[in-house]
Amino acid sequence: EGVVSAEASDDERVIESALRPRTLDELIGQNRVRDQLGLVLEAAMSRGKPPDHVLLSGPPGLGKTTLAMIIANELATPLRITSGPAIQHAGDLAAILSSLSEGEVLFLDEIHRMSRPAEEMLYMAMEDFRVDVVVGKGPGATAIPLEIPPFTLVGATTRSGLLPGPLRDRFGFTAHLDYYETSELQQIVHRSAKLLDVPVTDDGAHEIGARSRGTARIANRLLRRVRDFAQVRSDGIVREDTARAALALFEVDELGLDRLDRAVLDALCKRFGGGPVGLGTLAVAVGEERETVEEVAEPFLVRCGYLQRTPRGRMATPAAWKHLGLAVPVDAAY
Ligand code: ATP
Repeated sequence: EGVVSAEASDDERVIESALRPRTLDELIGQNRVRDQLGLVLEAAMSRGKPPDHVLLSGPPGLGKTTLAMIIANELATPLRITSGPAIQHAGDLAAILSSLSEGEVLFLDEIHRMSRPAEEMLYMAMEDFRVDVVVGKGPGATAIPLEIPPFTLVGATTRSGLLPGPLRDRFGFTAHLDYYETSELQQIVHRSAKLLDVPVTDDGAHEIGARSRGTARIANRLLRRVRDFAQVRSDGIVREDTARAALALFEVDELGLDRLDRAVLDALCKRFGGGPVGLGTLAVAVGEERETVEEVAEPFLVRCGYLQRTPRGRMATPAAWKHLGLAVPVDAAY
């Protein structure tokens, strides 16, 4: 995976945990979510009851896991972490639910990837704090009701639209996380640099923030690469010019586009005259799998306004030609 991937590797998760804000006050950006969540938690605490279930939705790397940890921390309750793909059978979920302590926060990442039977069990648990455990098979099967202590489910999903309506409806509060502004990423870089004991200037932090694709995880990763560069090739201080040189080495450009993103734009404009061209053809031209082009490169190119997905195929926008330093062709189909 490239240096601008929004997903984390397993090793990276360990490094990340040291950089996580622990309280809502420490959180940078996501102001609306912070205010809303702060109110929900404070109200629940004053009632002395666990808060409603919370759904966190948004692209990877913006802080869903961080927020789940903050929720448990603010409520001063333990946190249990699991994920949709880890729950294969309803029985797996029953085991987790029945072992929760009162008021515990259960974080269920990738909740949209749970199996159907587990999902149905979850409905009942969320609503009535009860599950039916089915024992036996066939006509002799019986459902044994099992009480579970009141808990708070924090579900996370990349798109709340992926969730079945009945599941979505059982969350009392949904927080939508948005991409960060460059100034917020700059603050995140400053904060992380302090924790990592790396000296960084304002300009240096800004340069890294600007190339981080609106994503906190990427900002932290780019900071670590720039730090390496600063230590080995310079005086150890992360300045604007160090950041530029380091990120040029890692092939991340001013806007955060990486080698693959630029290869896609390049092929689209230079080989296919700006399109429209089919995804498969485009993927072959850059020597990648269709899925990689579609899921890794395209979303950011679309977000930047460089690429359009049309029914006839992929098309470059005039901004894409300009980004490559090329004139927009007169015969382009705009
Ligand atoms: P995924 O769904 O891929 O797990 P996520 O949305 O859960 O991603 P986190 O793991 O919470 O993302 O955050 C990724 C990294 O970004 C962490 O190292 C965390 O410290 C940092 N981070 C996230 N949000 C913030 C923030 N608001 N301020 C400072 N750092 C943040």
